[in-house]
Amino acid sequence: MANQCIFKVKFGTKAIHAGIEADKSTGAIMTPIYQTSTFVQEGIGKHKGYEYSRSSNPTRDALERNIAALENGRFGACFGSGLAAIDCVLKMLSPGDEVISTNDLYGGTFRLFKTIFEKYNIKFHFVGMSDAEVVKDKLTQNTKLIWVETPTNPMMNIIDIEEMSKVSKEANALLCVDNTFATPYLQNPLDLGADIIMHSVTKYLGGHSDLVMGALVTSSEEIANEMYRIQNSSGAVTAPMDSFLALRGIKTLHLRMQRHCDNGEKVAKFLTGHPKVKEVYWPGFESHPNHDIARKQMRGFGGMISFNLLGDKLEDAHRVLNKVNVFALAESLGGVESLIGHPATMTHASIPQEEREKIGVVDSLIRLSVGIEDADDLIEDLKQALD
Ligand SMILES: *Cc1c(COP(=O)(O)O)cnc(C)c1O
Repeated sequence: MANQCIFKVKFGTKAIHAGIEADKSTGAIMTPIYQTSTFVQEGIGKHKGYEYSRSSNPTRDALERNIAALENGRFGACFGSGLAAIDCVLKMLSPGDEVISTNDLYGGTFRLFKTIFEKYNIKFHFVGMSDAEVVKDKLTQNTKLIWVETPTNPMMNIIDIEEMSKVSKEANALLCVDNTFATPYLQNPLDLGADIIMHSVTKYLGGHSDLVMGALVTSSEEIANEMYRIQNSSGAVTAPMDSFLALRGIKTLHLRMQRHCDNGEKVAKFLTGHPKVKEVYWPGFESHPNHDIARKQMRGFGGMISFNLLGDKLEDAHRVLNKVNVFALAESLGGVESLIGHPATMTHASIPQEEREKIGVVDSLIRLSVGIEDADDLIEDLKQALD
């Protein structure tokens, strides 16, 4: 089902209301969890718009409309995970097609590209995208997709979306932006020329570490038709209960993101001044190599921070990870609670060491997902762990 929608209100209002209406049968203000696989038809071909929940489900529909509205897009689709959403984009391609992708990207995306789609004869080029010329060098007549993650994971590089959209348009390729880290509160890639936005809803959109989900948003009817066809044909859809949880989480996205940004800034500044810390990667610093682009395309700098330690020893990084109390050692990010992770042995373990170190994922690199607790407690926790 096409979830076409445009909402002209501001972000916080959209987060709470876009795509959502009181339940027609009862007046319930919260979108009901339509926990059903099928829908009774009055006669053959006569139904209320729903036939089978893989194709569409009212709870999922509300969420798809809501996420599309947050991204200023016309069409949204939700999937069983972020990777299932990426899988859908890749299935829009054909054998022989080529993809140019960010080189320091989410480990699971890299694994999906390399171990699944390469087998189907799709060719991937992983490049640093700070320089558009490097991307242009890889273009061929077979280039059909440019895959951008910004800020990148875990090095917090910023890629100029507008510039990449110029490159993709010239090459007649699609531009898909993984907007998981920034969220629509901080950045809207469709407005900057992207064709598709991908989200791991698992992270900030859901926001409470209680579900795994993915989403795609586009404004192109042609892409939307493909997206819904693949969503229904491959069947990697999200469940009604999870759709409800995501809708509930998104209602506070603007409040949470503002606090993530505020806490992120405080923690990044604390780390910069600490004698055992070598480098802090956070796009809000004027010294960050892509700070100007971040300023241009983002409305804030978020709560994701990576840093490494003087001496670059694996044992030192592990000691910090084991000593924190408020930060929890875990994969994932974007929840209300602060998490700490070690990319080299956790999220990026599937990337060969040599590749890893080339992009800065050294042994002592530590990644923080700064939550929305009280910043003083977070700083105190890191201080005792580092000391
Ligand atoms: C987590 C994540 C994904 C994958 O999403 P899942 O919901 O875990 O499948 C993709 N991209 C980024 C940037 C992520 O953080």
